[in-house]
Amino acid sequence: MARFDLDNLVFANKDVLREDWQPDNLAERDAEMDTCASALRPLLRGNQPDNLFLYGLTGVGKTAATHALITELLDAAADAERHLEVVELNCTGITSSYQVAVNLVNEMRTGDAHSHALTTVSLEKDPLPETGHPQKRVFRELLKDFESAGGDVIVVLDEIDTIGSDDDILYELPRARKTYDIDVNLGLIGISNDFKFRENLSPKVKDSLCEKEVHFQPYDAEQLVRILEKRADRALADGVLSEGVVPLCAAMAAQDSGSARQALRLLRIAGDFAENGPSDGDPRITEEHVRRAEEEIQRQQVVEGMEELTRHGKLVLLTVAHLEAEGETPERTKVIHQRYRQVSKREGSDPLKRRAMHDHLTDLTLQGVLTKIDDTSGRGNYNQYELDVELDSAIDALEVEFDDLSAVRETAHRNHVL
Ligand code: ADP
Ligand code: MG
Repeated sequence: MARFDLDNLVFANKDVLREDWQPDNLAERDAEMDTCASALRPLLRGNQPDNLFLYGLTGVGKTAATHALITELLDAAADAERHLEVVELNCTGITSSYQVAVNLVNEMRTGDAHSHALTTVSLEKDPLPETGHPQKRVFRELLKDFESAGGDVIVVLDEIDTIGSDDDILYELPRARKTYDIDVNLGLIGISNDFKFRENLSPKVKDSLCEKEVHFQPYDAEQLVRILEKRADRALADGVLSEGVVPLCAAMAAQDSGSARQALRLLRIAGDFAENGPSDGDPRITEEHVRRAEEEIQRQQVVEGMEELTRHGKLVLLTVAHLEAEGETPERTKVIHQRYRQVSKREGSDPLKRRAMHDHLTDLTLQGVLTKIDDTSGRGNYNQYELDVELDSAIDALEVEFDDLSAVRETAHRNHVL
């Protein structure tokens, strides 16, 4: 087949499986969107809306639902001849209220900086520098800009948990009408993946930001099947989908996280394998492709997790991989530490004390690379650890840091764990 031949492709429109593709009407989130709509509806009569706080694990449709809802609301506002504007900011990488304010101002002033944002405001003013003003002054500037927008304003702060405890802005914005005497109805929508952030909000912020809270539950397998079928229909060429593929992607994602993002990713990568693998001119996505996609995703996950590990974090992971290859996992901290000392010395590093090493076990567990198992059988109460990813994926990822791991692979084969 010629390299750029467009016959016999798996994808008809691959963009539809991309994470940032916006579905026309979002299924499976009617109840959540109804609640949000009732909070925002007063805007259509020129009244103050309720502020909204949306939370739930990653990939459960919070951002997609917000986008779909605001698109509907803007249409309704146009019909009702109400002037409504939107400013949206994704707060990833932003760690303070001050930065949120500066970025909101610049979102309105330098329009296309965030191409996926919903922001409708575009003001002809010079952007603010990132630092160097008193916070009060930046807040005032922000509220003046809201007034200049010319109508009522909805502010969407996505992934707001990154600001941590520096949450002044979430206190100030809901009170802006009074404190700064501006004549704008301001609706605030905060979105967070982090349950702790909500618990740790100061009580005064909680009262005003969380007037209506909407919890997005993980999707179950049936919901994911329906979500995937719709997208697959548009994304894939006719007849390339084997029967069990969508249910398998849905089941894997439902079991792990309930994330539509994960389910879509499995299907997209499986499609890649089908499109680029050997074929007799009649490519099909099979369950085997989905299984390979899962391994590939896990491998990427470990590689990404590994990038954040220190040298000793990697040594700890290598130790657990050795034990896993020997069929010895789950294993207790004490034994892991003994092996870790040997592994470290062989790799030319001074081993850490047991407690410091244990911190790495905890980190790896939080990253989903290891699983902790409480063993309360027998005397005493031990924590045991094992890999939470395929051994093969872990070894692939470790090979980026350590030279020759063929011995671990051989051991694993001998013990039939690979
Ligand atoms: P979150 O913001 O909760 O992390 P997103 O809204 O970004 O999750 O959703 C992740 C991906 O899954 C996006 O590509 C989104 O379009 C898709 N998605 C989520 N929920 C649905 C749904 N109900 N129907 C169709 N696609 C969905
Ligand atoms: Mg999101």
